[in-house]
Amino acid sequence: DGLTKHFGGVTGLFGRKTPILRAVNDVSLKVGEGETLGLVGESGCGKSTLGRCISQLQEPTAGSVKFNGRELIGLKGNDLRAMRREIQVIFQDPYGSLNPRKTVGSILSEAFRIHKLHPRAQWRDRVVELLETVGLLPSHIDRFPHEFSGGQRQRISIARALTLRPRLIVADEPVSALDVSVQSQVLNLMMSLQRSHRLAYLFISHDLRVVRHISDRVGVMYFGRIVETSATKALFDGPLHPYTKSLLSAVPKTGRRKNNDRLILQGELPSPIRPPTGCSFHPRCPFRGERCSSEEPELRQVMPGRWVSCHYPLLEDQRGLDSVPQYVGE
Ligand code: SF4
Ligand code: MG
Repeated sequence: DGLTKHFGGVTGLFGRKTPILRAVNDVSLKVGEGETLGLVGESGCGKSTLGRCISQLQEPTAGSVKFNGRELIGLKGNDLRAMRREIQVIFQDPYGSLNPRKTVGSILSEAFRIHKLHPRAQWRDRVVELLETVGLLPSHIDRFPHEFSGGQRQRISIARALTLRPRLIVADEPVSALDVSVQSQVLNLMMSLQRSHRLAYLFISHDLRVVRHISDRVGVMYFGRIVETSATKALFDGPLHPYTKSLLSAVPKTGRRKNNDRLILQGELPSPIRPPTGCSFHPRCPFRGERCSSEEPELRQVMPGRWVSCHYPLLEDQRGLDSVPQYVGE
């Protein structure tokens, strides 16, 4: 709720303040039990920072993160440790996130040691169970990370995330470093684990195909804010925010449907140090209107379950007709 993360703004050597970089700005979102919320946006839009704030790897500047109604910000010691069992993280780079000097067995039993779970004599059996759960072999237990392929290493990361039986996994670009054929294997594994373990995912990716495949709902981020959230199918069938529309139109369509309505995005992400006035997308928006450069749009519900932060959402593409969008409450 209202999650915000700013960097900088500290006084440097000569008494000058470093500029404030607004990475995440007033983001509110919800992930339901057993649900996958995909988070998409260009690199640099704040997705990873948001994921890190939610999983308590980084402290937000403002806002609140609640898990099952319990505030997580500011937790310390045992309370923080208990929370860590509920929310786990998987990173993009399965090479960098596994200690190369440790065997798979010791990587996977580390959490048992830290959290004092299971008698030591049972650790090996538990690790073997975990390996089998993610499609690896019991004999892999004494091997080192470099002996595995990228896809297998990501399976090890997933197994490690499962050691504490979490309810939510924040997965930051978990398949982006993998070959396309391996990507779908890992995604399918994540989806079947979701069913068997009742997991919720916050699935961060810049890859729309991947997000479409795995998500129940999608949140689109631009420049540190959520600009649109919706059920996956509705969002891909008819994006309401001009930014979402341009993101989708950049994906080549296959089959009979041709990409006639291609929208080429101009310019780059604005500087986070000097954010644009009004709607932060206005310098690049092909649909901008009168209010856009001066008034910042709020995220609001314009159709049941569809939230968009735009003065002129693309409701049936009624552009230039002076049509007033119909709001369905806040
Ligand atoms: Fe474009 Fe205006 Fe909507 Fe921003 S508020 S996305 S500039 S139409
Ligand atoms: Mg990132």
